[in-house]
This record gives sequence, C-alpha cells and structure tokens, in this order.
Amino acid sequence: AVNRTPLIAGNWKMNLDHLQSIAFVQKLAWSLRDAKHDYSEVEVAVFPPFTDLRSVQTLVTADKLDLRYGGQDLSEHDSGAYTGEVSGAFLAALDCRYVIIGHSERRQYHGETDELIARKTVAALRHGLVPVVCVGETAEDLEKHGPSAVPVAQLGVVLAALEADADVVVAYEPVWAIGSGQAATPEQAQQVCGALRASIAEALGDEAAARTRILYGGSVKAANIAGFMKHKDVDGALVGGASLDVGEFASIARFP
Ligand code: PEP
Repeated sequence: AVNRTPLIAGNWKMNLDHLQSIAFVQKLAWSLRDAKHDYSEVEVAVFPPFTDLRSVQTLVTADKLDLRYGGQDLSEHDSGAYTGEVSGAFLAALDCRYVIIGHSERRQYHGETDELIARKTVAALRHGLVPVVCVGETAEDLEKHGPSAVPVAQLGVVLAALEADADVVVAYEPVWAIGSGQAATPEQAQQVCGALRASIAEALGDEAAARTRILYGGSVKAANIAGFMKHKDVDGALVGGASLDVGEFASIARFP
C-alpha cells in the first residue's frame, strides 16, 4: 500500500436498523478512540442500510467523528419515476463519502451487469461520491479462466467509462470467499489486486494506477487482515460478517 491510505470498510448488508446503527457507531467510535486510532493512517468506513444513513450522519456530525460512511448501492438515475431506488444526489446530501457498487450479491440476486455497474459508477462520480467498485470471480470462473481474467474483465467495462482523474476504490472480492469463512490467501489476493492495478494503468495511466486503492474482501477478520496488508497492491479490506462485531471490526482497523 505504498503512499496510499489504507481503507477498512464495513459492509453491513441488510443488518442493523437505524437504532442499532446508532449504538454500533457509538461503540465503534469509543473503541477506536480508546485505542488512539489515527484515522489519517487507516481510514475507517461503514456501509449501513439506506434507512440508517440519516442517523449515522447525525451522530458523526454531532460527535465530530472521523468515521466515513456510505450507501451499499445507488441508482444510475438522479431523480424521477424509479420506485424503490435511491439517487447519488440523496447520498451526497447525507454527506456520504463512499458508495458500494456492483457487490456480488447485487450482481447475483438483482441481475446487475457490468454495463449497469459502469453507469452507476459514473452516477456516483457525478455526485462527488467515491464509488467502491466490486469485482470478483466465482469458483466456477476460477476453475475455467484462472484467477485474474474475470475480475479484470469486469473492471475493464467500468474503466472504459471513466476519465483518468476519476477517484474510485476497487474491491476485489472472490465470490467463493464471501461469507464462506474461506478467505483467499494473501498471495492470491495480491496476484489479482496486482493484475487489477495493471489494468488501471493500461486504461487510465500510471498516475491513476498508483493512486487508486484496491481492497481485498472475502472472509476478512482480525486474525487474517495483517497478512493481506503486507502485500503491495492490497490497500485495505471490504469486510462483511466481521464488520457487524464492533470489537472485531475495530481490531481489523487496528491491523498495523
Ligand atoms: C462482503 O460481502 O463484502 C464480504 C466481504 O463478506 P464477508 O466478509 O462476510 O466474507
């Protein structure tokens, strides 16, 4: 993670309602404060359900917390007759810094394609949000195409829609490692994150590749985070299950 501030991001998925989110964020902030966490050294972000974001914003603002937060998805549209959708403008109005785009659960259960994910990424950038673009292969992809081909191809569709100065985060999340307890090895993660960085260099130039943070996600926990972070192209983690336990998530953020 040469010269890039690591990012530890917690994807709550469909867990914790707005009241629970307040208690959680308070405990997390206390825990990191007690540990004298330096947020400029390791950035920490949470991704609660949409219905929690206003509560999280209020707490973060009132207590002047250095914690970042964002949505788990957004619409490709800015406003209008799109029932059930949430616009990037609304997330920006809640001071979200980030938004997750193209999580494998969105791809799998909501039929999101690489093209839609590219349009959502452009929508996020239009509203000043930093998209956390998720890519990753299934076990079947891995067997058929090897480790990097599918994630690199998925990211390629997004990169084709971006300007060289776009501020994005990429999350490499092998589908077989998500929620399985079977994380990739740090070496596997490095191999794919390195290939993703090379593809950014090719599409957007060396400066963009050197600046862009690439996270690993898939069964990350306090006990394995340090191994991933030792590798030069791994700039943090997107954490699902383990992000719902305050102590565990705070320990992940305290990896150094
Ligand atoms: C995720 O869904 O983004 C994820 C990485 O989940 P888990 O940490 O539970 O594998």
